[in-house]
Amino acid sequence: MPGIDYHELRQQITMCEVLDLLGFQPTSRRGPQLRGPCPISGCRSTSDRSFSVHLARQIYQCFACRSHGNALDLWAASRGLDIYQAAMDLCHVTKRGIPSRAPLRNR
Ligand SMILES: [Zn+2]
Repeated sequence: MPGIDYHELRQQITMCEVLDLLGFQPTSRRGPQLRGPCPISGCRSTSDRSFSVHLARQIYQCFACRSHGNALDLWAASRGLDIYQAAMDLCHVTKRGIPSRAPLRNR
């Protein structure tokens, strides 16, 4: 398995991009904070405000399923993937090259 540079990937992938891919429709917006229905499959919330995103801080949180994290975490949670699979999948879907870690030297 190639080593993924998660730090680099997290710089590249924005919350907006992931929300777009998930078809997220905010029901309210206050400054950088969006609220809406939770896009994570398996979340049983019926509220259209349980899911909260902070665009400036690039983080999300669902008050119903307790999922939270950054854009990559959101993709993993909504697709039922682990972080490695989510990174590969997201690079594929957005037609990006996978940022890879430079191999360690002197080992
Ligand atoms: Zn949820």
